[in-house]
Parts: sequence; structure tokens; C-alpha cells
Amino acid sequence: MRSMDIAIAGAGIGGLAAAALLLRAGHRVTVYEQAERFARVGSGIQMAPNAMKVLRWLGVEQRLVATGFQAEFAISRTWDSGAETSRLELGDAVAREFGAPYLFLHRADLHAAIADIVPPEVVRFSHRLSSVREDRDGVTLGFEGGARERADLLVGADGVHSQVREILLGPERPRYTGRVAYRTVLPAERVRGLSLEPVRTKWWGPDRHMVVYFVSRNRDQLYFVTSVPEPAEWATPESWSSRGELDELRAAYAGFHPEVQALLDACPEVWKWALFERDPLARWSSERVVLLGDACHPMTPYMAQGAASALEDAAVLARCLDEAQPGSVHEAFVRYERIRKPRASTIQAGSSANNWLRDRADPGWVYGYDACTVDLEAIGAG
Ligand SMILES: Cc1cc2nc3c(=O)[nH]c(=O)nc-3n(C[C@H](O)[C@H](O)[C@H](O)COP(=O)(O)OP(=O)(O)OC[C@H]3O[C@@H](n4cnc5c(N)ncnc54)[C@H](O)[C@@H]3O)c2cc1C
Repeated sequence: MRSMDIAIAGAGIGGLAAAALLLRAGHRVTVYEQAERFARVGSGIQMAPNAMKVLRWLGVEQRLVATGFQAEFAISRTWDSGAETSRLELGDAVAREFGAPYLFLHRADLHAAIADIVPPEVVRFSHRLSSVREDRDGVTLGFEGGARERADLLVGADGVHSQVREILLGPERPRYTGRVAYRTVLPAERVRGLSLEPVRTKWWGPDRHMVVYFVSRNRDQLYFVTSVPEPAEWATPESWSSRGELDELRAAYAGFHPEVQALLDACPEVWKWALFERDPLARWSSERVVLLGDACHPMTPYMAQGAASALEDAAVLARCLDEAQPGSVHEAFVRYERIRKPRASTIQAGSSANNWLRDRADPGWVYGYDACTVDLEAIGAG
């Protein structure tokens, strides 16, 4: 494939990973990001071995291993009694079995690691994409405020409320799940009686849950994320930085195990994120525009696989473009979708069901996948 001018909408985990891989393949890449700058919001993220293999390919694995937390077990517990319902060995065992470690990170550390391998001049902040016009030779991008840019092709990595998806497939809002996620990162020393056991714990209540883990190697930073019913649609288009009410959160977890109560008592502030999902899209691309990450398969976070899927997309898209013949960009997009969509759709459905690893199960089909080596001729590789 000859070197192309590639525009990417969105400098999230998926957009930046795609940028790094496409730059490495010799393309000229510009990432257009609506935000004025990257912000460090209190949030954790799990990077399972399938995601870590892409991060290895990006060259950031060692940096993340040096700062991230490697839990020895993922444990499920009943909300009130604390009774254990499943225990999955992570640590060295998962790394041996699936070829990469399972890391728990501060989301900003992960984002920064990928951002740092993309030259700063590649990312154009304060560029909110509002229109796309495709013609035989490329795409014209229009931005709020009136700026215009040209590119040979556009990658829409602009998240769950994707403008690129809407331009490609028409307006259709993502489905509000009726649930919100409260989340925060706090100094571990604030939590009275905290066990420093190196584990990730999911507390399963009848209609709500909480996931708790450290996000630093030395276990001084603790993170939790919840899923709580909130019937009235509450959402802002970009809500990573929307604050939640601590009193409401504590009331929602009244009656949970004392360890959960201690954590909530110690919590100084919390953020709130509305949970959306979509059914699988009819298609992910046109002649010169292709979608990636939450833009094409937003999912609830219950399998901790949304960003992992975006990383897998980036790897497979870069490989498909790399192997394409000159003038056959769309064939590369179709191949990418054929490989990625069945797997992403299965993970979307599994996330929606919210029963991942509640009981003993084999996670091999998720963690064993390697987007960097998967056979590009396979249909529905997964
Ligand atoms: C509470 C919670 C916990 C999660 N935990 C995990 C986890 O543990 N592991 C995991 O793998 N996944 C997890 N996920 C999922 C993960 O966060 C997402 O799947 C991932 O961030 C998607 O990446 P993305 O790059 O596709 O989109 P985003 O990260 O949403 O990035 C999109 C970017 O596009 C920009 N943008 C939007 N519109 C425009 C526009 N018109 N023009 C220009 N720029 C635009 C946005 O500002 C943003 O920077 C979690 C999600 C939630 C909500």
C-alpha cells in the first residue's frame, strides 16, 4: 500500500493506537481531537492479555508493567456476606497461559503511554469534526468553527457518541442501559482496615455491583467502579469529567459488606458515567471512511473489554491496510470488518449479559486472542 494521508477523528485509546501503528507503517497521520488537551480523570482500566499483546506491539508494555498493578486473582464475592463465588488465577499463571500479563492501570497512565509514542504535532486539539464529504479521491473534513481539511481516508475513532458513525449510517442514539457507573481513584491509605491482598474483587449485588482494584504497582492507589440502576436517562455527551454525588452513591450501596462501606466512607470525590450500548452496526465503513472502537461497537464495561477491543481493531486495521494493494482501501476495510465484527459483537453481547466470570469459566477465547498475528484470511476470527 502506498503512503497515504490518514485522518483520525478522536484521540482516545483506539485513535491514538491506530495513529501510532499507521505512522509506523509509513503513512502521514493527523488526529483531530475535540478536547483542548488531555485531562487526567480519576479512573482505572483493566488490560487483559489480549489488549497487552497490542500494547506490546506498540512498544509500551514494559512501561506499563513498571507502573501497573498485577493482581494475583480476580475474585467474585456476594454483596452482603462476602462469600466467594469464583476465583480466577491471574498473575504469572495468566501470563504463561495467554502469552501476556493482565494489568490494572490508571486510565491516564495507559493513555499517556500511547500518546507518548505519537509525535505531538500529529494531534490537533480543539478540532471537533462535524461533517465529512467523500469523493473519488478522498475525504473533506469539516470542523466546528469552519476549518476544513483533506485526507485520503478517515478513521472514525470518536467514541460512543460518534459523529462519524452518524454521518456514515444516519442518526441513531446509543441505547441508554438505565445504569450509571460511579468511579474514582483514591489513595489506599485513606481506607480504614483495607486488605492489601493483591486481588481484583467484584462485589455482586442483586441489581448492582462494584469492582475494586489497585491501579499502581506499589498498591498505593485504589480504584472502584460501580454499575447502579438509574432509570431516568442521565447523560452528557462527554461525561468522563462529570461529578457524582457521594451521598447518592453511599445510599445505593447501603447494606453491602463492611469492606465496601469502608471504601465508600473513605472516598473524597466521585465521577459518574452513563452506560450506553448499541446493537452491532450494519456496516463499519464506506469507500474512504472506517470506524473503530466504541464508535462501532460500544459496550457496557462488564467484561472490561471495550478499550481492549479498540486496541484489537487498531492492530487489525493497520495490518489490513498494510497488506492491501494500491487503490484497494475499501477492500482492506471490508476485510478488517469481516475479521473484527464477529468477535466484537460476541463481546458486546457478553458484556451486556453481565455474568462474565461470576462463576467459574474459561476466559481463553477472550484473553488468548492475538490481533497482531490473527490470520487475516480467517472469517470471523475469534
Ligand atoms: C466505567 C467504565 C469502565 C471501563 N473499563 C474498561 C476496562 O477495564 N477495560 C477496557 O478494555 N475497557 C473499559 N471500558 C471501555 C473503554 O473505556 C472504551 O471502550 C474505550 O475508551 C473506547 O476507546 P475509543 O478510543 O474507541 O473511544 P474514547 O475513549 O471514547 O475516545 C473517543 C475520543 O474522540 C473524541 N471525540 C468525540 N467526538 C469527536 C468529534 N466529533 N471530533 C473530534 N473528536 C471527537 C473524544 O473527545 C475522545 O477523546 C470502560 C468503560 C467505562 C465507561
